[in-house]
Formats: sequence, C-alpha cells, structure tokens
Amino acid sequence: MTSRAVRKPSTRFILERYGDLLPITDRTPMVSLGEGGTPLVRSRSIERELGLKALYFKLESMNPTGSFKDRGMVLAIAKAVEDRAEAVICASTGNTSASAAAYAVRHGLKAYVIVPDGQIAMGKLAQAIVHGATIVQLAGSFDDALNVVREIATRHPVALVNSVNQHRIEGQKTGAFEIVDDLGDAPEILCIPVGNAGNITAYWRGFSEYYRLERAGQRPQMWGFQAAGAAPIVNGAPVEHPETVASAIRIGNPASWQQAVEARDDSGGRIRAVTDEEILEAYRRLAAEEAVFCEPASAASVAGLIRQHREGADLSGKTAVCIITGNGLKDPDTALGIAATIHRAESDLASVERALGWV
Ligand SMILES: *Cc1c(COP(=O)(O)O)cnc(C)c1O
Repeated sequence: MTSRAVRKPSTRFILERYGDLLPITDRTPMVSLGEGGTPLVRSRSIERELGLKALYFKLESMNPTGSFKDRGMVLAIAKAVEDRAEAVICASTGNTSASAAAYAVRHGLKAYVIVPDGQIAMGKLAQAIVHGATIVQLAGSFDDALNVVREIATRHPVALVNSVNQHRIEGQKTGAFEIVDDLGDAPEILCIPVGNAGNITAYWRGFSEYYRLERAGQRPQMWGFQAAGAAPIVNGAPVEHPETVASAIRIGNPASWQQAVEARDDSGGRIRAVTDEEILEAYRRLAAEEAVFCEPASAASVAGLIRQHREGADLSGKTAVCIITGNGLKDPDTALGIAATIHRAESDLASVERALGWV
C-alpha cells in the first residue's frame, strides 16, 4: 500500500489562527464562514507612478460578506452567543448590517439592523434582506442610528455589535497580523479609510501587539483618509450633515475618534481628507489599471496615498499597504455612474464587427 503525503491545509480562519491573541475561552463557539486569510495583491501601475518600493492592496473585499466587517463580527457574535444573547443589533451604513445578518444566521440569533434611510448601497441592503434581518430605515444619519442602538442595547436584551463593542476591534486587528505574517514585517505606511474609526484603531492595536511580541520589527505610519464632506477628525469638529459618494464612511461623529487620533500620533502618521472626485478617480483606476473592483470608501485609501504623493510626501524606498475594505459589487449604482461607451449591434456577425469598428 502506498502512502501519500497529505498536505494539511493551513488554518486561515482567524479565530483558530490567532486564537492565542484573541479573547477566546473554551466556551467560545469557533464558527467560521471563511473570514480572514485575504490576499495582498501587488500594484502593477500605481506603485511605479508613486516611486514606492512596493505597494500592496489587502483585499478585505474577499471576506465572506464582502467587507472587513466579518473579521470583527465573527468574534463579536461568537462572544454574544457565549454570553447567551439571543439577538444582536447594529446601526450601519450597510456592511455591518450585512455581516451581522450573516453571522446571526449561522449562530441561530435574530439580527436587528438600523440603517439611514435611502443612504445605503443596494448590494448591502440586498444582503441584509436575504439573510432575513429585521431592518429599520431611520429618517436620519448613521450617527443618529448609532445613538439609538446604543440606548436600545441598555434597555433590551440584545447584544450591540457595532465597533463600540471591543470584540469587533479585537477581531479586526487580525488584519494587521496577516500583513506582517505575509510580508515578514510591517510596511512603512498603512493607508486606510476612516469612517467610525474602528478599523484604524484595530489595525494600530494589531501592529502594536505584534511589535511588542517581536513578531514585527517595526510599526507602520498610520495614514487615515476621510471624505472631504465627512471629515470630522480632519476638521476637529463633528459634521452634522456628512455627505460623500463613499457611503461606508459617511459618518459625522466617529465612535473611535480619540483612538484614531492616538493611532495617528503614536505612529507618526496622518489623517487627511480626499474629495469625492479623487475617490472616484482612484476607484476607476483601481478597477481599470489594477483589476481591483472595490467600493468607493475603499478607494479613499488609494486616493489619499496618491494625494500625499502629489503634495510632496517622499515615498521612495518605502512599502505601503492600502486596505481595500469592501467589494465593488456592493455599490452597483456608483459603478454604473461611471461614463461608459457601450456599443449596440444587430444579432449578426457583420453588425458586431461594425460595432467594434473592425470593418
Ligand atoms: C465600515 C467601512 C469603512 C470604515 O471603517 P470604520 O471602522 O468605520 O472607520 C470603510 N470602508 C468600508 C467598505 C466599510 O464597510
């Protein structure tokens, strides 16, 4: 009998792979939908233009519900189950609700999601609907919705799974671990969109933990980017009516404001604004030049890096990673708003050749 070597799959799922650095007990359900283990894809054109040694896109868009929210949600919901919760609630610009709805299904919990009316991208609403969440459209902003759910969670037996829940931040810090494990060290620069500021907080925590444990030799500068119409941290004051095409970061009063400022300052980084025009230009370039189809909020990280270069930041010899936070399919309306040339033809060969301009 011949024996064949069985190649063991490496553990990609974050609760198992990084369990020693997460608040897991022997009562925490280790359920996974396949979150984490997302690829670092190297740039083929923007890297050269900016004079970087290397530029990578971390495709958090490849998580099970299409955004990085799954990293924190898998832990937040597992801990809610451990604490015997029967329902979860969140305010959401869309991706949190999609993720909460999916993980709630997996664990047999009810999910309640409160979204700002008319302000959430269609793909995200579609996910919450099909996963069977109870959806409330609030006549107000994300910030209003977050205030309401924080209050609800103190009055009713539901677990709050917004990023004010520390298990969300703990789960999301694994994105930083993966970058170091993949590159062999932290990059010099980490570019990330900033909305409610949970993710920049989480990445900084992850890089700092790995540095303390000497699994990384350096920590990156944290470069956070807000949309110009929703830039409270940049302006130093809440924005009452935040407005931007990047709906995932359309937030006027971030819950993790202070932690984001600390991440910026402790890392020697920066938090700056980019205009919607810059976001959409980066969004289009990412898809057309790099083959990365992301949602507009994700493109803010790349738009910000490009703008920093234009404003004189010296990037030569440096490695940068941009976090691609969500999938382009989430927001088909923005994609279809990009000017396109679509040719028409009759259903015969000659007509198609004419339409293509080949005859
Ligand atoms: C939630 C989200 C953000 C913003 O992350 P915060 O933790 O709120 O700062 C950015 N991009 C996408 C796609 C998101 O879903």
